[in-house]
Amino acid sequence: MSLLEVRNLAKHFGGNTAVDDISFDLAAGELLALIGPNGAGKSTTFNMVGGQLTASAGSIRFDGRELLGTPSYRIAHMGVGRTFQIAATFASLTVLENVQMALLSHHRKVYSFWRAATHRFRSEALDLLEQVGMHNQASRPCSELAYGDVKRVELAMSLAGQPRLLLMDEPTAGMAPAERNALVALVKSLVVKRNMAVLFTEHSMDVVFAYADRIIVLARGRLIAQGNAEHVRAHPEVQAVYFGT
Ligand code: ADP
Ligand code: MG
Repeated sequence: MSLLEVRNLAKHFGGNTAVDDISFDLAAGELLALIGPNGAGKSTTFNMVGGQLTASAGSIRFDGRELLGTPSYRIAHMGVGRTFQIAATFASLTVLENVQMALLSHHRKVYSFWRAATHRFRSEALDLLEQVGMHNQASRPCSELAYGDVKRVELAMSLAGQPRLLLMDEPTAGMAPAERNALVALVKSLVVKRNMAVLFTEHSMDVVFAYADRIIVLARGRLIAQGNAEHVRAHPEVQAVYFGT
């Protein structure tokens, strides 16, 4: 059974249809790319799965449970994590403290227990930092980090919530090509190691074709193609949208 089952999902904003009757599946251990030109409906889809937006029609089942109508905090606690385009780290805290904060929040500890709790989560936080290759910079304030490294810390913070599904809308926005490759390669390795499902958007076709297990293509809210890189690249409608042929 699929971990995520999206069926006939739609979103209308007034008279404008942002997402038009799309259906797809996502399994544990799978890295699924959602691609398409600006305005295709990618972020709207993410926001419906994450519960930040209410769908106009359709169904979104996660692990057999309906997410439609479920508040976003509850969706998060069911095991659906997400990263945001805007940096979510506390600049004045260290890398380690940021991840400890995320663990604290996941375990719903009160802040008056900050000292005891951070002590408790120290090894867990260091372990997460090791998974994203940031344990050597654990004691540096986030304000001193390179942009690509902040993204790694954010990824470790997302993992603190032990997501079974992680939603990443443009995780590499603002990055140089080499950094993009490295981040998505890291995500791919975590998908395999943790048997996690990841849905992500990415503008670089090279990166998508190199790392995604499967690709979904949206154009003007409609799902025009899905499959592996070879299938999607050769699809006539995709060719038309991307290469104007
Ligand atoms: P993408 O992420 O693929 O670039 P979006 O999902 O952000 O696309 O947008 C899809 C369409 O929905 C666009 O036409 C956009 O203008 C419209 N849209 C997105 N959010 C809103 C909103 N809150 N209100 C009205 N229209 C919106
Ligand atoms: Mg978007």
